[in-house]
Amino acid sequence: MKARLAALSLAVVIAALLGRSEAASPTQIATSPSPRWSSPPLLAMTDEAIATASVPSLGLRTGFDLATTDEAPIPPPQPEPLAQLSEPYELFRGDRAHPRVALTFDCGPWVNPGYIKAILDSLDDYGHRVTFFVTGEFLEKHGRLFATRMVRHEIANHSYSHPNFPRLPAERIQQEMRWTEELAAGLGATTRGIWRAPFGARTPRELYIAAEEGYPLHVMWSTDSGDWTTRSADYVRATTLNRAVNGAVVVHHCNSWQTAAVLGSILWQLREWGIGVVTVSEVMG
Ligand SMILES: [Zn+2]
Repeated sequence: MKARLAALSLAVVIAALLGRSEAASPTQIATSPSPRWSSPPLLAMTDEAIATASVPSLGLRTGFDLATTDEAPIPPPQPEPLAQLSEPYELFRGDRAHPRVALTFDCGPWVNPGYIKAILDSLDDYGHRVTFFVTGEFLEKHGRLFATRMVRHEIANHSYSHPNFPRLPAERIQQEMRWTEELAAGLGATTRGIWRAPFGARTPRELYIAAEEGYPLHVMWSTDSGDWTTRSADYVRATTLNRAVNGAVVVHHCNSWQTAAVLGSILWQLREWGIGVVTVSEVMG
């Protein structure tokens, strides 16, 4: 009996140690090395992480030389968790009352035209309207495809060159978003209102900068399809479908061969189940 108790308490201690070693603090996350655009969302933060993160950089004017404009003064930094603030707003999952999911597609600087065309074909087959988060570099390279086939969808801002926003000065972040909006406008669309940080990497500072630029809604996700990894197309399909709960926001990528291969199958199954496919705006209810 004693031996069993000893083994049990040892297991508890080991579990506690493991649990501690796995928990990454917001500070550790924020200092991760700069990832490439196709890397996993290393800096993605949970609600809890945001709520507990220190917010000394919350004020836009702090640390940046923007105080010489004639604009009305911005209120001083508010040392309260983001969840208590009305603006900006961050979406992880939408309306849970209805069987609808928002499919979102991030278009980074490098996209194989064959993959994005296959994705657009599948969406057209089912008549679905979804949300594309486009980079300016994508728009420069695939402007014709965008203007002819993508503008019917909801378009949102994913920066110009897909840099790591928390490492950039405010002026550069503003430029990244403005350049992309200008390119989209030149192609008959607008990215206004909705954005997603490259890599999902953002702190309260970037959320406020974007909100001031006309992008109050930052969209994260409830389901990472895993289509940016080396996992199989079947994995991407199963992950998307297994987590297709009411209001799910799923992230896919325009340059994913896996998504290009299985999106039609995903859309067929969702229709069989009676689950709607909608844009980010629509899934909010
Ligand atoms: Zn991206």
